[in-house]
Amino acid sequence: MPKGNEVIYHRSSIETATASAIRRLQARKFDEQARRILSSNKFYQRKFASAGLRPEQVKYRNFAAFPFTLKSELVQDQLEHPPFGTNLTVNPSRFIRMHQTSATTGKPLKWLDTRACWRWWMECWAYIYRGVGVRADDKVFVAFSFGPFIGFWTAFEGAQKLGNLVLAGGGQSSEQRVLSILENKATVLVCTPTYALRLGEVAGQMGGVDLRQSSVRLTINAGEPGASIPATKQRIEELWGAKCYDHPGMTEVGAYGFECALQTGGVHLNEGEFIFEVVEPATGRPVGDGEQGELVISNLGRIGMPLIRYRTGDRVRLNSDKCACGRTFRRAMGGVLGRVDDMITVRGVNVFPSGVENVLRGFPEIEEFEIEVFKERHMDELVIRIELKAGLSPDADPLAALVQNKVRAQLGIRARVSIAEKGSLPRYELKARRIKVRAAGV
Ligand SMILES: [Zn+2]
Repeated sequence: MPKGNEVIYHRSSIETATASAIRRLQARKFDEQARRILSSNKFYQRKFASAGLRPEQVKYRNFAAFPFTLKSELVQDQLEHPPFGTNLTVNPSRFIRMHQTSATTGKPLKWLDTRACWRWWMECWAYIYRGVGVRADDKVFVAFSFGPFIGFWTAFEGAQKLGNLVLAGGGQSSEQRVLSILENKATVLVCTPTYALRLGEVAGQMGGVDLRQSSVRLTINAGEPGASIPATKQRIEELWGAKCYDHPGMTEVGAYGFECALQTGGVHLNEGEFIFEVVEPATGRPVGDGEQGELVISNLGRIGMPLIRYRTGDRVRLNSDKCACGRTFRRAMGGVLGRVDDMITVRGVNVFPSGVENVLRGFPEIEEFEIEVFKERHMDELVIRIELKAGLSPDADPLAALVQNKVRAQLGIRARVSIAEKGSLPRYELKARRIKVRAAGV
């Protein structure tokens, strides 16, 4: 089987449409759903009324005047109107699924889908699977525990809807997952980037298992931006002997983007099913092509619990050039570059966690890592703890010094690097949390 690179479209007339044709499609879809939302959805009725907009003014042509939707408003709404809040367009009995965000702090957001909304998720996944080059004869393995987090449920059912054989990796240890992938000759692996690496680590400990010899020809990695971090992508590709594709999505918004089979340095944004804007985080003003800003998304097919102008908190940089794959869907170059609020400042130098990850993943000796930022005698300190691959001696002072030098050369910051004991750093199946910021005096 070829290792990817085959350009396949799900809906070529939309994926290759001109920008003006895309705007017309978005206008039609938006106006149609806005009528329904404004007739019954209390959350959006309140929001538009408090922005001084009458229901008949909620039309695509006035889009730029609409208020943004913030995550904090959704959280507050669910707290005040438990359990699901008031962002409900249809009668509660119409919903068939409930999922929730993988909140790292506070209460997770609950999100409901109707049968039609769920079908729309499957449609979005069809763009993703075709976009990365999945064909009818591919066998898709979903390495996921199938809990309340939505991400990979939709991947699972989306592949099934396309007619692919789908293998559930829930309720299994990592060893069992590796064996299932090998035995059943899975060709597509869907999981977080962290977990694609973790399976590699586990395979290495199983003795004689070489994942490059497996049938897996491509991986779709979601839940974290790692598959667009060059050194992480390269590592996954080398480990699996497969192409690694990034797919960004969000529980509350949908599966909105995919890297195309040609891997042209960015993820395509599905402009057939969503409206995307990029704004300055502080002012909400739009930024141009090539400039970094916060991604704002409106979805066009999830009417039960819709989102209009949702501030994602994710930083992106768009490129509107037509892609080599023929798609006109704009691309977020380098994928999601980080969170608007995840910048760390170390002695006046701004660094993003993805930048540190890119340096560390460039060292094949490093299996896992953790970053800690804190103040000591009023100075910012950055500590990086690294765990080495199995079989490597922990007596690796020269490596710590090499890592320290490379971090300084590439990011301009001085870090203390130490080697952690084997198996002492946490491993992650879902969202990895490798950064710790310690408040002063703690
Ligand atoms: Zn492309």
